[in-house]
Amino acid sequence: STIPLKDPSLLTDKAFVAGEWISSPTGKTFAVTDPFDGSLIANVPDLDRTVVQKAIDAAEAAQKLWARKTAKERAQVLKRWYDLIVANADDLALILTTEQGKPLAEAKGEVVSNAAYLEWFAEEAKRIDGDIIPGANPGQRIMVLKQPVGVCAAITPWNFPNGMITRKAGPALAAGCSMILKPASQTPLSALALAVLAERAGVPKGVFSVVTGEAKPIGLEFCHNPKVAKITFTGSTGVGRWLMKEAADGIKRLSLELGGNAPFIVFDDADIDAAVAGAMISKFRNAGQTCVCANRIYVQESVVEAFTEKLLAKVSGLRLGRGTEEGVSQGPLIDERAVAKMEEHVADALANGGRLLTGGSKSDLGGNFYQPTVIAGVTQAMKVAKEETFAPLAPIISFKTEEDVIAMANDSEFGLASYFYARDMARVWRVSEALEAGMVGVNTGMIANEMAPFGGIKQSGMGREGSKYGIEGFLELKYVCVAGI
Ligand code: ADP
Repeated sequence: STIPLKDPSLLTDKAFVAGEWISSPTGKTFAVTDPFDGSLIANVPDLDRTVVQKAIDAAEAAQKLWARKTAKERAQVLKRWYDLIVANADDLALILTTEQGKPLAEAKGEVVSNAAYLEWFAEEAKRIDGDIIPGANPGQRIMVLKQPVGVCAAITPWNFPNGMITRKAGPALAAGCSMILKPASQTPLSALALAVLAERAGVPKGVFSVVTGEAKPIGLEFCHNPKVAKITFTGSTGVGRWLMKEAADGIKRLSLELGGNAPFIVFDDADIDAAVAGAMISKFRNAGQTCVCANRIYVQESVVEAFTEKLLAKVSGLRLGRGTEEGVSQGPLIDERAVAKMEEHVADALANGGRLLTGGSKSDLGGNFYQPTVIAGVTQAMKVAKEETFAPLAPIISFKTEEDVIAMANDSEFGLASYFYARDMARVWRVSEALEAGMVGVNTGMIANEMAPFGGIKQSGMGREGSKYGIEGFLELKYVCVAGI
């Protein structure tokens, strides 16, 4: 199928290695399809490890020159890349929706709000300040320099095919690192379109490469190649754990944004309408396929009826369909495996006493469409309370006390996002401090932006993206002891 782009050159079926656009040297390719109907969009190169090595070699050479540029020069390139993404946001959104399925308005939101990480880190590039510390004796001074870690490898997921790239490339390139990116095999076209714009913005050859192909061999090359200093990954906890093990021999730096199991808590003093609005965004955005999606909705007993009724009214207003159609609020799930997980969680909840209020089956649109689903009477023992559903299932668990709900919310090996709605200021402080999560949304269902440190604790990962802290993962401290003064 062809995508009606204003600038057709943004859609490419070539990989971007060492500043060159290449076809598959072996002739091996893999298909990228539209999750709406399974139709073919493009065949992209299935690169083997020798090509990945070439990208890493080029990244190593280019990084040294890139790091020697002034921060202002690097900032100007990143700012140009940002401007080009914003100027081409409609086309990038269309490519994104076609390969991923989310509604076009959401796709455009993703493109623009995550391009902001390039703008932000272009600004931060100029503020990588070191320190001068008084010496341990009168003849010494202590200097602290911040230097780029070097060659970075990035692995990104399909749920934000565009935004997860600018979030990683922004701080890396600002710090003076180079990057080789392996995008998710479901959604490489957004990554390649970003590379077209990176080249146009003047990112030097080799500083940013996109290698498409099978995940495991490329991941192994990243983990074992001594020239790679750091791996930054967003994806499942299982793959994150595997990368950590493989990268252990080389003591590589790691940033991991992994799975979540976000609690979304509604207290009896909450503004219920606001809580419903927040739950809709947090639960149903991207058809429930975000790592910060509300997975477990806890509502205090006295307000559970009112909350549930209002939530159902909003859920009935969701419209399923092709992401490019006007007015569509939910696209298909990414694949059959995603549907199977949803089905498993729904069946488990219903078998154990949950009450189905709406949805509960695949949509008559066919394919991988699943109806937005609300189940009441859910308990902590059900699968949906323990595992990330990553699909449009809103399970409602009622609770009695603040203490009870904090214990339930923290009863998870994950600790990425969490949300709660309350108006009592003392409660807001107590609960914010008690939740075991890297991020807490208080009276909001949307927490990600470039000015804030995004990331998780526990098995949700390590490192932060965004904010002044986001660049630290791409920098090493060097202490210089200056003596003889
Ligand atoms: P999901 O289950 O949501 O697809 P994954 O963690 O499997 O999440 O995928 C996230 C990213 O990790 C994708 O780019 C995928 O191709 C990649 N990936 C999956 N398995 C591996 C692996 N063994 N090594 C490196 N990357 C991997």
